[in-house]
Amino acid sequence: MKRRDFIKVASAGVIAPSTVFIEPSLKHNKNNPIILSTWSFGLPANEAAKNILDKGGNAMDAAEEGARLTEADVTNSSVGIGGLPDEDGFVTLDSCVMDHTGNCGSVAFLQDILHPVSVARKIMEETKHVMLVGKGAKKFALSKGFKEKELLTSKSKKEWQQWQKERREMTPHETHDTISIIVQDKNGDIAGACTTSGWAYKMHGRVGDSPLIGAGLFVDNEVGAAAATGLGEEVIKTNGSFLVVELMRQGYDPKEACEEALKRVIKKHNGNPDFQIGYVAMRKDGKVGSAALKWTFDYALLKKNKNKLFTINGMLTK
Ligand code: ASP
Repeated sequence: MKRRDFIKVASAGVIAPSTVFIEPSLKHNKNNPIILSTWSFGLPANEAAKNILDKGGNAMDAAEEGARLTEADVTNSSVGIGGLPDEDGFVTLDSCVMDHTGNCGSVAFLQDILHPVSVARKIMEETKHVMLVGKGAKKFALSKGFKEKELLTSKSKKEWQQWQKERREMTPHETHDTISIIVQDKNGDIAGACTTSGWAYKMHGRVGDSPLIGAGLFVDNEVGAAAATGLGEEVIKTNGSFLVVELMRQGYDPKEACEEALKRVIKKHNGNPDFQIGYVAMRKDGKVGSAALKWTFDYALLKKNKNKLFTINGMLTK
């Protein structure tokens, strides 16, 4: 459409002639830290993050610490040590961080390192790159003093061996969950982290949304932040977290922004996707929201020193 025609259509009310952006009109929420994370394991992660804020750490320090707690939990079969392996029996980890200045770091297909989130942060802070993967990422981690560690626990090995006998195609919502954590510190600055072992029994080499800036996580301190969990392939296709933040920029509140982003997924799947995606979003004024496609979804919110789990119904849940 030529510009002249566009203006005609716009002035006829068919297209909004200009978009209203919220960022100049909203103020940062200050002196009232907020921590928002995915799933019930977000509760202890929020506490760990809060501890760091109480000791004077900033939003990035806190988000990293929250994610580290989940990574180190051997009982969690979808993040860090104890995570279920890929179809060849390798635990491969994806993670990213983004801070309030828009800086970010990311690591994908990392093996034998307990804390991919901290490797992602080191990449952000100590290299000229954003993302390292596989052997290169591991080499970098070792050079920074991270130690090699076996991440396949005997429990997850047994489960994998059992799976190998049947090689049953796992439905995506059965086998994966990510910790995504967004923190706003007392200065009103927002940072986030995202870390996962991804889809259990995935193809060797598969990378999901979690290490991809804009898909698994996006932070824009002038608007807010969003993060994802669920079927990474589908989050990537809509650049989910970036989309949620941009919708908030256009005036959608955090929950509406999550829902609008999910409506695009629902439409692409003819109204009936058979997988889960959950988004959490935080706006710079401290308002938070969340939405999921199906079943139920839990998120943990720590606000005014109260740490609570919220269970929401998916948009398609009857
Ligand atoms: N989004 C992650 C992935 O696809 C897993 C999840 O959050 O369930 O790797």
